Amino acid sequence: MEQTVASPHVLLFPFPGQGNMNSMLNLAEFLCNAGLHITFLNSNHNQQRLLRFTNAQERFSRWPKFRFQTIPDGLPADHPRSAATFFEILDSMKATAKPLFREMMIMASRKESGLWPPLSCFIIDGLMPFAIDVAEELSIRVIVYRAISACCLWTFFCLPGLFAAAELPFQGGDVEDDMDVTIKNVPGMQGFLRRRDLPSFFQTKDPTDPIFQQIGVECQKMTQAYGLIINTFEDLESPVLTQFRSQVPNLYTVGPLHALTLRRQHSSSSMTSNIAVSNSLWDEDRSCITWLDSQPPKSVVYMSFGSLVVYDKDTLMEFWHGLVNSGKLFLWVVRQDSINISGGEGTSFLAEVVDGAKERGSLVVGWAPQEEVLSHPALGVFLTHSGWNSTMEGIYAGVPMICWPFFADQQINSRFVSEVWKVGVALDKCDRWTIERVVKDVMEQKREVLVESIDGLAKLARRCISEGGSSRSNLDRLIQDLRSVRESVYDTSTSTLVG
Ligand code: UDP
Repeated sequence: MEQTVASPHVLLFPFPGQGNMNSMLNLAEFLCNAGLHITFLNSNHNQQRLLRFTNAQERFSRWPKFRFQTIPDGLPADHPRSAATFFEILDSMKATAKPLFREMMIMASRKESGLWPPLSCFIIDGLMPFAIDVAEELSIRVIVYRAISACCLWTFFCLPGLFAAAELPFQGGDVEDDMDVTIKNVPGMQGFLRRRDLPSFFQTKDPTDPIFQQIGVECQKMTQAYGLIINTFEDLESPVLTQFRSQVPNLYTVGPLHALTLRRQHSSSSMTSNIAVSNSLWDEDRSCITWLDSQPPKSVVYMSFGSLVVYDKDTLMEFWHGLVNSGKLFLWVVRQDSINISGGEGTSFLAEVVDGAKERGSLVVGWAPQEEVLSHPALGVFLTHSGWNSTMEGIYAGVPMICWPFFADQQINSRFVSEVWKVGVALDKCDRWTIERVVKDVMEQKREVLVESIDGLAKLARRCISEGGSSRSNLDRLIQDLRSVRESVYDTSTSTLVG
C-alpha cells in the first residue's frame, strides 16, 4: 500500500442563516490563518448575496488554501427565508441538500486534484444532523458548531427532565395566562426561568410536536461528535457551561468570534488594513455611520431585529410611537422584507416612517454595519430581538440592551440579559407607552447601573479573547485537534483515508 500523509482539510458547513454564516466565516478566518485547508460550503442563495454585498471573495483570496463551494437550499429564489418559514428552510435543506451533500462529500473524501487534499474533518452546524450522518458514514471526524447561546442549548438537554416532571408540554387550561410560572427542572436556572423564557419551540401544548424529536436528534449528535464549538465565552456562561460539560465534555467556547476576528485583523501585519470586513447578506447602508458621527455621545437608540424576524404594521407603529414619544434620537433598521404586509394594506406607511424619522432628526435604514454601529460613541442603547450574535455584539461593545425577543433562543437570551447579567431590560409588552417608558428609563435613570454591569462583561470578553484567555486557548486547542487528524494517511492505491 502506497501511503502519503494528508494535510488537514476542514469543511465548514453553516446553516444558511445570516448569523450562522457570519460567525462561521469568522471562525474560518482563524483556521485559514493557522494554515489549514478550508472548504466553506454556503447555500447558493447566500453565496450570491454574500458576493453581491461584500468583498468576502477578495478578503479570503489572501489564503490560497481557502475556497468557497456552494449547494442549493432547495427553495425558490423569492422564498422569504424568514423566522416564519424557518422550518421550511430546515426541511428543504434536508430534502435537497442532503443527497447532494453526500455525493459531494464522497467525492471530496477521495484524493482531489491539485492542491486540495481529501477532507479530514467536518465542522457542521448542529441544525443539520443529516450532514453529521454523512460524516459518520464516511468515518470523518465531525465537530458540531452551534450559533446559539449555551443557556439555550442546555435547556435542550433538559427536555427529558422537563417531560418527566410534567413541566412540558405546558399543562393547564389557559397557558397564555400562566406564562410566569417558574420552571424547576433546568438545573442551574431554578428561581429565574419562567415558562415564557423557554426557547419558543418548547412553548407548545402538543407532546407530539416534531420539534421535540428534532431537538432530541440534535442533542444526540452533539454528544456523539468529537466536540462542540459554541460562540460564547467562559466568563459569561460559566455556570451553564459546567452543567453542559456533563453531557458534552469536549466544548470549545471560542467567542465572541466577531471580536476575535477584529482583534486579529488589527494586529495582523499581513493584512491590508484598508480591506473592510463585512459578512452581510444585505446591502449595508453606511450613511448611518456619517449620521452617527454628527450625534452627541450616548444619545442614540439603535433598534434592529436581525435577519429573520418579521413583524406586522401594528407592531411597527407601536415601536414608532414609542420611540418618537421618548424624545430620543434613533437609528432603526427596517429590513425591506421584515414587515408583514397584509392584502391591500399598501406600503405607504413605511415611507411615512422613513420621512417622519428624518423630520425628527432620526434615521431609518434597510440594513446597517451593525458591529460598527454598536461601537460608535453616539450609541446609547441597543433595542434588540436578542439574537445570539446581536447579544454578543452588544455585550462586547458595552451598550445596554432593551430586549424584545421573537423566537428560538431569543427568549432565554433576553432573560439572561435582564435577570442574570443585568445588562439590559426586557420589554414585557409591546405598546407605545411601555416602549416610551423603558427607552427613557434605560437612557436616563437606569443607565449608569446598566453601563457599569455591561462594561464589566465587556472587559471579561476582552480578557477571554486576548493571549492566554479562555477563548484564545480553546481556539488554539481546536486548531491542534484539527491538525491531529493529519496523522491519518492517504492510501493512494484505494484512494481512501486510513488510520
Ligand atoms: N446585522 C447587521 N446589520 C443589521 C442587522 C443585523 O450586520 O442591520 C447582523 C448582526 O451584526 C448579527 C446578525 O446580523 O451578526 C444577526 O444575527 P443574530 O444572531 O443577532 O440574529 P438572527 O438574524 O439570526 O435572528
